[in-house]
Amino acid sequence: MTSSVLPTYNRAPLHFVKGEGVWLIEEDGRRFMDLGSGIAVNALGHANPDLVQALTDQANKLWHVSNLYEIPQQEALATALTDNTFADRVFFTNSGTEACELAVKMARKYWYDKGQPEKVEIITFSGSFHGRSTAAIAASGAEKMVKGFGPVLDGFVHVPWGDHDAFKAAITENTAAVLIEPVQGEGGIRPLPDQCLKGLREICDEKGILLVLDEVQCGVGRTGKLFAHEWAGITPDIMMVAKGIGGGFPLGAVLATEDAGSGMVAGTHGSTYGGNPLGCAVGKAVLDRVTDPAFLDAVNARAGLLRQKLEGLVATHPQVFEGVRGVGLMLGLKVKVAPADLVQAGYASEVITVPAADNIVRLLPPLNITEDEITEAIARLDRAAATLAS
Ligand SMILES: *Cc1c(COP(=O)(O)O)cnc(C)c1O
Repeated sequence: MTSSVLPTYNRAPLHFVKGEGVWLIEEDGRRFMDLGSGIAVNALGHANPDLVQALTDQANKLWHVSNLYEIPQQEALATALTDNTFADRVFFTNSGTEACELAVKMARKYWYDKGQPEKVEIITFSGSFHGRSTAAIAASGAEKMVKGFGPVLDGFVHVPWGDHDAFKAAITENTAAVLIEPVQGEGGIRPLPDQCLKGLREICDEKGILLVLDEVQCGVGRTGKLFAHEWAGITPDIMMVAKGIGGGFPLGAVLATEDAGSGMVAGTHGSTYGGNPLGCAVGKAVLDRVTDPAFLDAVNARAGLLRQKLEGLVATHPQVFEGVRGVGLMLGLKVKVAPADLVQAGYASEVITVPAADNIVRLLPPLNITEDEITEAIARLDRAAATLAS
C-alpha cells in the first residue's frame, strides 16, 4: 500500500482510535495495554481527566498569542518549574530537539559573553540521543543518524559511554559543556551510576565546564524523582526537558541557572509556538500532580512491584530474557531474541512495548499505572514471551 506520508517510520499496522489511562483501543475494538506511553510522553496515561480539563478550559479561552506579549500560563509553569528544581530560568519549546538546540546555543553563548569565545566544544557520549535536528544528530554523532546529511555541525567531541579516562582526556581549553542523559533512553535504558554523575559534576566544577543534562526521557517523575539527577544529589547548570512534561501535548523546556542562562538576552532566541497557552496549561496540570510527594512515593512503590515481577518473568523465560535494568518506571528488559520480535509478540498479546538499542525492550508505563494493571501487564508479557520461547 502506498501512503502520502513520507516513509521515515517503520510503523506497525495498528490504528488506535481512543486512549483511556494505560489502555489504547484499536479500531477493531482490541484493548492494548500501553507500556510505552508514546515513548515516555503520556506520563499520566491517556485522556487523563485533569489534563483534558486543563486543555479544554484553556482551549475555550485562548489558543495562541505571540511571545511578543506576556503569557501568564507560561509564567505560572516556569515558576512551578523553578520552585521545584535547581533552575532560575526557563525557556519553553515544543519538543526535545528544540530544547537541545537551545541548550547548545546557551552553553556556547555563555562562554562567548564571558570573553572566552574559543570554548565551543561540547562533550557527548556514545549511545546518546538528543533529537533529530542538525545540532542534535551532531551531538549524538552516531553514523546512522548523521550519514548522508552533509557537513556535520562542528564542535562535538564523542566519548565512549562509561569511559572515565576517555572523558578526562577529551577535556581541553575549548570545552564549553558536557551533555549527557542521566539515564540513556534510546541507547538502551542505561543509567549513569550516581557516583559517576557526582564525579562528572565535580570535574565540571573543577575545570569550569557547564553540565548540561538531557532529561527529555528520564525526567518528570519517570525515575521516581521529579528529575533523575536528584538521585545523585547534584544539580546541572542547564537541563533539557520534554516528553512527559506535556503529558501528550507537545511541550519542551530548557531550564538553567541564572548564570548559565545569562547569555540568552532579548533577541538571542525565540519560538513562535514555544510556551503557548495550551501547552503551558497542560504542563502545569502535569507538574501539579508529579510534584506531589505522595505521587512520587506511589511511583516508587509501583516501580518496585513492577521490577520484582519482571525479575520473575525473566526467571520464567531464560531463553528469551537476560535481565532487567533501569530506574523507577524507566525499565529495560534485556532480551536474547531480537527486540523487535518481542515487541511484535507483545502486539499479538495486546501489550505495547518499545525497542531500544543494546538488545533492550523498554517499559515506560504511565506513572499512575495501578497494581492490578501491573499484574495484567506481566500476564500479557508472559504470554508474549511464551510464544517466542516455543
Ligand atoms: C525523545 C528524546 C529527544 C528528542 O525529543 P523530541 O521531542 O522527539 O524532539 C531528546 N533527548 C532524549 C533523551 C529523548 O529521549
